[in-house]
Amino acid sequence: MEKKQFQAESKRLLEMMINSIYTQKEIFLRELISNASDAIDKIYYKALTDSALVFDNESYMIKVVPDKQNRTLTIRDTGIGMTAEELENNLGVIAKSGSLAFKKEHESKDGHDLIGQFGVGFYSAFMVADEVTVVSRALGSDQAYKWESTGAEGYTIEPVERAEVGTEIVLKIKENTEDESYEEFLEPYRLKSLVKKYSDFIRYPIKLDFSGKRLKEGSETEVEEYQEEQVVNSMVPIWRKNKNELTTEDYEKFYAEKHYGFDQPVKHIHLSVEGAVTYQAILFIPETTPFNYYTKEFEKGLELYSNGVLIMNKCSDLLPDHFGFVKGMVDSDSLSLNISREMLQHDRQLKLIAKNIAGKIKSHLLSLLKDEREKYEKFYESFGRQLKYGAYSEFGAQKDSLQDLLLFASSKEKKLVTLDEYVSRMPEDQAYIYYATGESIDRIDKLPQTELVLDKGYELLYFTDDIDEFAIKTLMNYKDKQFKNVSSGDLGIEADEDQAEQETQEHQELFDHMKAQLAGKVSDVRASKRLRKHPVCLTTDGDVTIDMEKILNAMPN
Ligand code: ADP
Ligand code: MG
Repeated sequence: MEKKQFQAESKRLLEMMINSIYTQKEIFLRELISNASDAIDKIYYKALTDSALVFDNESYMIKVVPDKQNRTLTIRDTGIGMTAEELENNLGVIAKSGSLAFKKEHESKDGHDLIGQFGVGFYSAFMVADEVTVVSRALGSDQAYKWESTGAEGYTIEPVERAEVGTEIVLKIKENTEDESYEEFLEPYRLKSLVKKYSDFIRYPIKLDFSGKRLKEGSETEVEEYQEEQVVNSMVPIWRKNKNELTTEDYEKFYAEKHYGFDQPVKHIHLSVEGAVTYQAILFIPETTPFNYYTKEFEKGLELYSNGVLIMNKCSDLLPDHFGFVKGMVDSDSLSLNISREMLQHDRQLKLIAKNIAGKIKSHLLSLLKDEREKYEKFYESFGRQLKYGAYSEFGAQKDSLQDLLLFASSKEKKLVTLDEYVSRMPEDQAYIYYATGESIDRIDKLPQTELVLDKGYELLYFTDDIDEFAIKTLMNYKDKQFKNVSSGDLGIEADEDQAEQETQEHQELFDHMKAQLAGKVSDVRASKRLRKHPVCLTTDGDVTIDMEKILNAMPN
C-alpha cells in the first residue's frame, strides 16, 4: 500500500507531538472528544435543517473504551464521519495553515506555546500513542476508510467495512518509560477524571467503558469479568449553569478547552440576559496579545450558538473592532438555526445582542480599572493600543466612548494614569492637559520643551506610542480641558509668555537675522521662557505637531 507523506508543516507539528515533553499530555483526550462532539454537532445541525434526516437523541454519543490487554484506547463517535478525501485533507494537513511558520520565533522547544495557542487538535494523539488508526464512514456513504499512521513517516488510507456512520479512533498507547507514564491513560478512573476535568459540558453523553476484572463480591480470591458503562459528563453547557455554582477555575478550564488562548484570562464575564434580547454569553478578557493580534491576519469574533448548537465559529459582527480582543461565545434562542452569514449581518436580534455585549464589556473593563488596577494595567499592556486605535477611529456620538478606558504614562511617579485622574488633580491655574511625544519616557525627559511645564509642577503625559497623539486629537478635550503638546508655540502659561514677548522685541534684530538664515526651515524665531537647561528648542503652531508629521510622512500612500 502506498504510504502518503504529511504536508511539511504537519510533519513538523507531528514530530513535535511525538517528542513532546509537554507536561499536559492528558489534553489529547479533550482534543479527540471535542472533535467527536463537533462531528455530532454537524450531523445534528444537518438534521435540523434537512427534514430527510432524523436526529434520534438516543443514538448520538461518544464512547471511550480503554483496553489494557491490547494497550489501546478507542474513542468512538456517531458523528458525521469522514470520506477518504476528508481523511486525507483533515488529518494529513494542518487546517490552520501558515500559523506554524508564523509561530516559529515564539515557540519553545517542547512546543508548549504552540500546543496552548492552537490546540493542535488531532495530532495531540501522538503525544500518548505510537500508532493511531482512524476508521470512519461519512454520512451518505456506504464505504468506510481506514487512516493509519505511526508518526512522521507518513500515513496510509484504505477502504474497510464499517456498519455505522461515524468515526472510531484507536490509539496504541506508548509503553511507559523511565520518566513518563502512559499506562494511566488505560485506567478508567483516570479517564473519568479527565473527562470531568476537560469535557464535562459536552452536550452529548460520553460513555466510558469500565470493563475489566475484579474480585467477586463477597469473595477474596475469586475474580470475575465485568462490563459496565457510565455516562461521565454532566452534559450541561457551562453557560447554562448558574454563576454561583461556578468557580473561576471552571471558567479558566472552559477557556483552555475552547482554545480561546494559552494565557489565563484577566477576567471572565458570564451574562444571562433576558428582555428585548435573550442570550447567554461567556466572554473573556485575555491577558496576553495573540501573536498576530496587531496584523491583518487576526480575525475577531465570538462563537455563536443558536439554542445550544454551534452555528458559527467566529461571528465578527458580535464585537466592535475596539473590543476585538474579547474571546468567548454567545448562545441565543432568538436566532434562526439555518441563518446564512449574509443574513446574520442584517439580523436585528444579532445587532441588539452585539450592542448589548459591547456595553457589558465596557462596563466590566471600567470596573476592572476601578477595582483591580494591577490586572487592568496588565490587560492594558496587551490591548491598550487597540483601545487607543478605537478612540482615534470613533466619531460622532461614539467619540468619547472609550476615553475613560485609556491610560497614559505620567510624570507623576512615572505611573500610568487615567485622564480623569490627571484632570482631577490639575492645579487651578493650569489650563491644559500637557503631553509630550517621543520614543521613550527617557527621551521625552530630555526634551527641552518639557522643562517649563515640569518646572511649574504640572503633570506631563508621555506619549510614546505612535497612536497616542492621534487618539487625543480625536477626543479634542477631556472634561472641557484641551490637550496641549509641550512643543506647541503657545503653552498657555501667561506670565511667561508676556515676558518672552518683551524679550523677543528687545532682540528683534538678532532674531530677524536667524530667521533669514533659516529661511524655509522655520517660520519664526523668538525668545522663550520655557527653557531651563537648554539654549534652544523647536515648537509648532497649528494642529499637526512635529511628531504627527513624522508619522504621517512615514505612512505608505
Ligand atoms: P480542528 O478540530 O480545530 O478543526 P483537529 O486537528 O482537531 O482540528 O481536527 C482536524 C479536522 O479533522 C476537523 O476539523 C474535522 O474536520 C476532522 N475530524 C477530526 N476528528 C473527527 C471526527 N471524530 N469526526 C469527523 N471529523 C473529524
Ligand atoms: Mg479539534
